[in-house]
Amino acid sequence: MQLFDTLRGHKATLEIPKDRPLTLYVCGVTPYDTTHIGHAHTFLIFDILIRYIRSQGGQVTYCQNVTDVDDPLFERANRDSIAWDVLAKREVDQYLKDCKAMNFLTPDFFPKVSEEISGMIPIIEGLLKNGKAYVANGNVFFDVSSEPSYGEMARLGGYEELLKTANERGNNPNDPNKTDPLDFVLWRTSNPGEPTWPSPWGPGRPGWHIECTAMSTRYLGDQLDIHGGGRDLVFPHHPSEIVQTEGYTGKRPFTRFWVHGGLTWLDGAKMSKSLGNLVFVRDAVLQQSPDSIRWYLASFPYREDFNYIRADAKAAEGEIAALVTALSAPAGSGPVLNVNDDVAAFYAALDDDLAMHIALSHLKQIITRINASSGTHSISAAQQQLRACAGVIGFKAAE
Ligand SMILES: [Zn+2]
Repeated sequence: MQLFDTLRGHKATLEIPKDRPLTLYVCGVTPYDTTHIGHAHTFLIFDILIRYIRSQGGQVTYCQNVTDVDDPLFERANRDSIAWDVLAKREVDQYLKDCKAMNFLTPDFFPKVSEEISGMIPIIEGLLKNGKAYVANGNVFFDVSSEPSYGEMARLGGYEELLKTANERGNNPNDPNKTDPLDFVLWRTSNPGEPTWPSPWGPGRPGWHIECTAMSTRYLGDQLDIHGGGRDLVFPHHPSEIVQTEGYTGKRPFTRFWVHGGLTWLDGAKMSKSLGNLVFVRDAVLQQSPDSIRWYLASFPYREDFNYIRADAKAAEGEIAALVTALSAPAGSGPVLNVNDDVAAFYAALDDDLAMHIALSHLKQIITRINASSGTHSISAAQQQLRACAGVIGFKAAE
């Protein structure tokens, strides 16, 4: 299939091997708040990608992590006077409920950072040994000057633009322990009240980026086929993973395809915790069927930002009703309804950079034609094809 790779900046051919599974790592949630529609959109992209690869005879080994050691989680736990691990467990439980409701495929590996710390220490030691990092007062930083290509995925321009974006996303440029304000944390001393783990540099906790290097390489190997996440991870998270992982393993590229989903907006503003305009999955699935949410989210080009409009999301219920009708519509005794061209177009759309919005338009065409031919034509073969296509999009109605 053709798949857009953010690092290369264009589509390239992803061969679907028959003799080994493709490896997929998706950066998962930081469990301090329940899953919102933006998360659901990101995870839906990879859910449909896996289902499509399977439909083509391939297999995928899928790892999605839980970032339960990170600043936002500790800040929320502190604000709400709750233990960080209790908060994390509660929110992971809710997340798993949301994923089940949305009919997301279960990852083969679902590691939690808090249980993976020991795997990070040897990687940091390796980066120090390879001259990619330095120790300062119980902290370890990655030396970005050791990797001139750092951040090229983001296409932001020069150093100043990278630093500005990093600062907007949690980098502390004024840390006196740093040689360069853009250097990022591999290991750091903990603040009071935060958990600590032992390390060769003193008690502390890992930085955010090193967590994903440790978990992806542990479960999927030193080099991945596909690494995904929301577009807000295009800098600094994913370029940091690249320089850490390649700096440690010496194998390039770390990942063959970097796949990023667009961000979700609500009424003209980016849906974000800081703006407080989140639509939570657990609320949305009470107001409409998960299949209709899935239809709505799949109706946008996956790489582009989209504006979530509640009325439009609810209107997708009508598409699901038509799908359900078509799947069980009574056949007639007339000529066989031939939907082969629509089915071929459906798969061709997914094959061309997972154009799920185009695939959905062909699915709709198949549904419309079956419903129009019900009672007159022989439609059972078309219904079987419809069920298979709807299964690739992951609708429960097709199961
Ligand atoms: Zn990550």
